[in-house]
Amino acid sequence: MSVIKTEHLTYTYNGGSPFEKVAVDDVNLEIEQGELVGIIGHTGSGKSTLIQHFNGLVKPTAGKVYIDGRDIWENPKDIRRIRFQVGLVFQYPEYQLFEETVYKDIAYGPTNIGLSKEEIDERVREAAMFVGLRESTLEKSPFELSGGQKRRVAIAGVIAMRPEVLILDEPTAGLDPKGRDKILGQIKQYHEAQKNTVLIVSHSMEDVAKYCQKALVMNQSKVFLYDTIENVFSHTEELSAMGLAVPQVTRIFHALGARGVEVNPDIFTVEAG
Ligand code: ADP
Repeated sequence: MSVIKTEHLTYTYNGGSPFEKVAVDDVNLEIEQGELVGIIGHTGSGKSTLIQHFNGLVKPTAGKVYIDGRDIWENPKDIRRIRFQVGLVFQYPEYQLFEETVYKDIAYGPTNIGLSKEEIDERVREAAMFVGLRESTLEKSPFELSGGQKRRVAIAGVIAMRPEVLILDEPTAGLDPKGRDKILGQIKQYHEAQKNTVLIVSHSMEDVAKYCQKALVMNQSKVFLYDTIENVFSHTEELSAMGLAVPQVTRIFHALGARGVEVNPDIFTVEAG
C-alpha cells in the first residue's frame, strides 16, 4: 500500500480574487513506503505547496490526500497525529531554533508530546547521530554553530519525532558544496537505517541523481513525471524545455553510474555545461 496517495489534489491561492493562482492542479500520485524521492521543478511549479499537503499543513481546495490509506481530512482530529507521522522540515529551518542549547532544541518536540526523560534523551542522541552532530555539540548554544550545523540541528528536531515520512524542503539551500554533500549524505544514511519514506525538494538535478531512487518532476502546478531516476533523466529534452536545464548531464550520468544504475549512454546526448 502506498504511504502517500493523492487523488485529484488541487490547491488555489486567493481563490475568487484577481490574485487567484492554482498552485497544485489535479495531482494524482502514489508514493510507496520506503522510497527516497527527489522533488524537482522550476521555482513556482508548486513543489512547496504540494508537500505541505502531505502533513495536513494545507487543506486541499479540492481532491484528497491519504496517508497510509486514510483520508487525512475525513476527521480533522487526525491532523495533529498526521503532523507527527509526516515530519516536514521547512526551507531555512535554522531560523526556527530558539532554545539555549542544541540538546533542548532537538528535544523540543519529544518534550511537548510528554515522553519520559529517558525516552527524550534516547531520541535526542539518536537524531543527533543521524545528522552527524557530535555529543559535545549538544550542550552548545545553537547560535555558536556554523550555518550547516544549525541546519542539521533543525533537521534533527524533526527526526527526533520519529516520523514515518520525512520531507525536507530544499535542505541544502544556501550551503556550500561541502555542507550540501554532508547533509545529503546524512539524509541518505538515515533513510537506509530507518527504511522509512523520505522526500527531498531540490533545485539540483545532480543531487537528485546522486542520492534519490525516484524523482518527481513538477511543472506548472502539475506532476510532469514520477519515475525512477534513470527514466526521469532519459527525458532530457523535455526537462530542458521546461527550464530545468540539465547542464551537468555528464556528471549526472557519472553519478548514476557510480551508484550502479545502468543507463543507456544514447539518452544523454546533451554536452556537459
Ligand atoms: P515552488 O515550491 O515550486 O517554488 P510554490 O508551491 O511555492 O512553488 O508556489 C506555487 C505557486 O503558488 C507560485 O506561483 C507561487 O507564486 C504561488 N504561491 C505560493 N505561495 C503563495 C501564497 N502564500 N500566496 C499566493 N500565492 C502563492
